[in-house]
Amino acid sequence: MRRVAVLGGGPAGAHAAEKLASAGLDTLLIDEKLAWEKPCGGGITYKAYKQYPFLIENSTPKTVVSKTYLEAPGAGRACMDLTQPLLIYSRFELNKLLLGRAEAAGARIEKARVTEMRRTSRGWEIRTPSGSLDADFCVVATGARNPLRGAGTAWTASDTMVALGYWVPEQRSDIDIRFLKGLEGYIWVFPRPGHLSVGICGKGEPAAQLRLRLETYMDESGISRKQARFYAHMLPALDKNSWTSNRVSGDGWLAAGDAAGLVDPITGEGLYYAIRSGDLASQIILNEAHEPSAKPAAYRALLDRDFSRDLYLASLLARHVYLGKFLFDSVPARMVQFVRRSPRFRALMQDLFAGTQNYATLRDRLMRNLNGTLQEVLMSFFFRRLLPEGGG
Ligand SMILES: Cc1cc2nc3c(=O)[nH]c(=O)nc-3n(C[C@H](O)[C@H](O)[C@H](O)COP(=O)(O)OP(=O)(O)OC[C@H]3O[C@@H](n4cnc5c(N)ncnc54)[C@H](O)[C@@H]3O)c2cc1C
Repeated sequence: MRRVAVLGGGPAGAHAAEKLASAGLDTLLIDEKLAWEKPCGGGITYKAYKQYPFLIENSTPKTVVSKTYLEAPGAGRACMDLTQPLLIYSRFELNKLLLGRAEAAGARIEKARVTEMRRTSRGWEIRTPSGSLDADFCVVATGARNPLRGAGTAWTASDTMVALGYWVPEQRSDIDIRFLKGLEGYIWVFPRPGHLSVGICGKGEPAAQLRLRLETYMDESGISRKQARFYAHMLPALDKNSWTSNRVSGDGWLAAGDAAGLVDPITGEGLYYAIRSGDLASQIILNEAHEPSAKPAAYRALLDRDFSRDLYLASLLARHVYLGKFLFDSVPARMVQFVRRSPRFRALMQDLFAGTQNYATLRDRLMRNLNGTLQEVLMSFFFRRLLPEGGG
């Protein structure tokens, strides 16, 4: 294989292009916008920057956040220190960083809209408004709104969330997460360098209703929309029934990032999975032990072993996390109460925020710690009654 076309230059495409070019492949990355402020929180977990240290070891502006507030109806607000800080980037800056790395590794970068990818006897013909070019193999990384309908996830109505929000010219140092009654999703306030990203994501609710919920929250929290800019985008959140048939690869192509639906269906984290899948796609393309015809199956198997099985497990839990009940109250309310009162539960949530607690072992850890957690909650409750000034 000589020439690879990477379609889309977000985190998935840019990282795949960097890896392919640095291994010496003739790599062409095509993106219609190149670095742009993609609607996104911009949050990067510890899991991501531990595995890809260049995400933290750089001079690109970013906010390093060490404290999160969680809030749910009927449970008030709980403060949680992040044992491993979360990084928050503007997406323009993050994309610029990743595209710069791809270019420095030798990838050719072209600003154009891909209108079609057509299979030919020699490989692929990639069409753009100004002409066409040939490639032996393609990485499809055109994001959640992937217009190349023959490749990448074929979305059903239950595979996506609406995500929308405002960039607000204000400064803060902490994160706010608010759960809402009856919503399979949440509101976030992420502090970025120079502004806040304030947004909401939700499944099964119209965008207008979500926007109303968000604006009500902003009004109640004193976050002004006067000079704020609105954004909206689609967020993959694959249904549990969609993972087995998810179209992550095919004859002559591998899909990475949002174009392959690789987002945590509970948290909406997609940046790590975009970069990771770009990395895994490049490993499969570069592995000469696989014939081109064997690469699609090899990629699917590698994704499964690496993280997509865990995302599938998340999809089994997602509804329960937001809409379920535990001990006669909503799960989000219990989460907030337990974070406030139980050090064990807080440690578990800290690991979830860091990305070091996977879904495969979450249930076991919860069950193992249930007695201790409930004891801590009760102790904290009674101590607060006895010593009100010391309670959380
Ligand atoms: C509101 C919102 C908040 C989010 N917050 C977070 C967060 O805080 N943390 C987190 O981890 N994840 C978050 N996500 C998810 C994250 O944004 C995505 O998972 C991530 O951007 C996926 O990267 P990607 O490279 O696959 O796709 P994208 O970043 O969407 O990149 C796709 C690229 O393809 C290009 N493209 C598309 N079509 C064409 C075409 N026809 N021709 C040429 N180029 C094309 C686009 O210009 C774009 O640059 C959020 C998502 C949303 C919507």
